[in-house]
Amino acid sequence: MRPVKAAGLLATMLLVGCVVTVNDRALVGKDRVALWQSKLVIAHRGASGYLPEHTLAAKAMAYAQGAHFIEQDLVMTKDDHVVVLHDYYLDSVTNVRDVFPDRSRADGRYYVVDFTLAELRQLAVSERFKLSDGAKIAVFEQRFPIEKSSFPIATFAEEIELIQGLNQSTGRSVGIYPEIKSPAFHRSEGKDISVAVLEVLKTYGYDEQSDRVFLQCFDANELQRIRGELLPAMNMTIPLVQLLGTGPEFRAALTPDGMKAVASYADGIGPSMKLIVAPGSVAGKLQITNLVELAHELGLAVHPYTFRRDLLPAYAADYAELLGIFLDDIGVDGVFTDFPDLTVEYIESNL
Ligand code: CA
Repeated sequence: MRPVKAAGLLATMLLVGCVVTVNDRALVGKDRVALWQSKLVIAHRGASGYLPEHTLAAKAMAYAQGAHFIEQDLVMTKDDHVVVLHDYYLDSVTNVRDVFPDRSRADGRYYVVDFTLAELRQLAVSERFKLSDGAKIAVFEQRFPIEKSSFPIATFAEEIELIQGLNQSTGRSVGIYPEIKSPAFHRSEGKDISVAVLEVLKTYGYDEQSDRVFLQCFDANELQRIRGELLPAMNMTIPLVQLLGTGPEFRAALTPDGMKAVASYADGIGPSMKLIVAPGSVAGKLQITNLVELAHELGLAVHPYTFRRDLLPAYAADYAELLGIFLDDIGVDGVFTDFPDLTVEYIESNL
């Protein structure tokens, strides 16, 4: 613990009129305590600080670095396979332009849903890049170089088999943290991604509240449909996490009544860190919202995103200080991070 800093932080919060729970654990619902006894390190897209996001290599590295949960972002192919990619288009992490130059839509993008799994297998996954005057520029300059080595796109089933296989060979029990991406887009393409994802989860034995899985989504309507219709119909009870972004569509959920509504169908929230500490905060004068307290009062776990050593908010001098603010002082229950190793190390030496 960092008592001096915590005291200073509390004083600051009182000054700005916010209240915060420093003793975070007491309010978590008793049926959930078993799952959330310790601070969770959730590998965001794998050990994506070191290897291209969502490759099996990045997942194996996250596993070896001691992550407690490993994240999968999920989209669907033309032939109804669920694959692990952050975007429902392929442009920013593959060589699709070179392999299938005439397969873009009118907006210039290459959509996963327009390709079969066999076609996706022909693509090479790269560290994330953006195009600038036709040239590929790495989004994170210090990370793995773009378009190097050899990484294929993996299906959700293949990634689960990797993690479950490692669980068997190491004796650990690392969990999965899948995200259903853009259910409305998939529906407009004739795909029910939620049903497809739940079928894979059920096939691999993730069907009870106590299983090592959290299913996350930004779409509140879809999560309510999953809780109210799909899970009962499939005889499943897995924990659900409502992701919260900074956009206006999430404002209602940040109020006491809105959070109560979230708690009626979800077991946790995955908010942007900006919803917990205002990004304009300066060191020693943090503007902390009441979001974590609101959620904890309702028994919701709080797993904010995204903790990156190479993309720090201005108020944190280094990565350990950022973790200290969220894990020690504010008391969130886990973090999504691109750097599982540093986060595990912090938790083991400080908490
Ligand atoms: Ca995600």
